[in-house]
Amino acid sequence: TLSDRLDSIFKRIKGQGRLDEKAIQEGLREVRLALLEADVNFKVVKTFTDRVRERAMGQEVLSSLTPGQQVIKIVHEEMIDLLGGSQEGLNLKGPAPRVIMLVGLQGSGKTTSSAKLALQLRRDNHAPLLVPADVYRPAAIDQLHRLASEIDIPAYPSTSEMNPVDICRDALEKARENGQDTVLLDTAGRLHVDEKLMDELARIKEVCAPSEILLVADAMTGQDAVNVAERFDELLDLTGVVLTKMEGDARGGAALSIKSITGKPIKYMGVGEKLKDIEAFYPDRVASRILGMGDILTLIEKAQTDVSEQEAQELEDKFQRADFDLDDFRKQMRRLRKIGSLDSLLKMLPGAGKMREQLQNVQMPEKELVKLEAMISSMTVTERSRPQSIDTSRKERIARGSGTTVSDVTQLLKNFNQMQKMLKKMGGKGKKNTAAMPSD
Ligand code: GDP
Ligand code: MG
Repeated sequence: TLSDRLDSIFKRIKGQGRLDEKAIQEGLREVRLALLEADVNFKVVKTFTDRVRERAMGQEVLSSLTPGQQVIKIVHEEMIDLLGGSQEGLNLKGPAPRVIMLVGLQGSGKTTSSAKLALQLRRDNHAPLLVPADVYRPAAIDQLHRLASEIDIPAYPSTSEMNPVDICRDALEKARENGQDTVLLDTAGRLHVDEKLMDELARIKEVCAPSEILLVADAMTGQDAVNVAERFDELLDLTGVVLTKMEGDARGGAALSIKSITGKPIKYMGVGEKLKDIEAFYPDRVASRILGMGDILTLIEKAQTDVSEQEAQELEDKFQRADFDLDDFRKQMRRLRKIGSLDSLLKMLPGAGKMREQLQNVQMPEKELVKLEAMISSMTVTERSRPQSIDTSRKERIARGSGTTVSDVTQLLKNFNQMQKMLKKMGGKGKKNTAAMPSD
């Protein structure tokens, strides 16, 4: 993968004493090859390496960093830039109902992404309406109706006899009547860009005046996704991109090329087939991931989404009121142990291999959890909700009651305190924390 390649390149640079021209040239030649092999557009690769070279050459050797680290830092920063700089959300300004139009080739993930976005919108207190407008494949309409009912979000009752433009126009009208503030148009796709399809999409655009026209593109198709983006952008003037199947794309070719070729930001990425498998696209996090630097924030967010929506809301309210207590802590511990694909989460961490080994040992064994439950059960309601009130004599009582020791109780309270701090930091759904994310 790209990150493996870059890793070894930078290790070599690291071996050198200073950031000299020859080392940079050599390193950049490798970076160039690695990017091309990752299926990044060649024009993008050229601009990218030129910029890194320019910055690296003019740079003084910082005493705090090794030459390799210094180049990584520049590559990382330039990569963030390439991916779009900062996160861009959906444009939801203007009078309701706002229209989000999803376009793209067949199989790119439009229908799935419509439902995923609807779910996200509802989470953010919007009232979405899903509109199946792909009348050419009857199965496509059924598919969206099925997904809609799965997540209990209203869908316009399209049939394959209707005209797609009429469907969209009427759906917008219905949304207005029913107070739905966001309308998601799941349009038809072909296997290739063709004129008839483009005409239809252009007419839908004209009639519905969407505030977002999102291209849904399959990240696994690399350069092809970029070409498709260019074609759709020429004809429809896209407002953004949803890059799907990112979880299977270790190379990052499409992600790294699309913004600089089309000028349109990637706003979301699909990371799996389930409807919760969508994430806002954060250039800094994705750059870190492509470079193999890990992505702890995303990891934490993933862990959070394992909590059901309602529970999450409850917990969030609690963090905000700052009364997250030991009962919640116990729930959280149970949940943390349950996170299914710990392994896939760990891939996002730096040094994942070693990490995984270590975690095997660290993972809370059943015995520990039983102890924790016993201690929390031995506390009074007040103690659980106000752990600060637990002094030494109370600790002794709790230890006696639960068959543990005072130092066990102290440890529990310490862990709780740490988690409470961490959760308070994440209180605002993580978004506010982007700025605080280390960039190297
Ligand atoms: P459409 O033809 O553009 O509407 O594409 P669909 O939404 O029907 O998706 C095509 C296939 O891709 C389906 O099997 C989806 O489950 C799958 N799919 C969509 N998004 C993702 C994603 O982010 N990851 C993975 N692994 N599969 C996806
Ligand atoms: Mg579809």
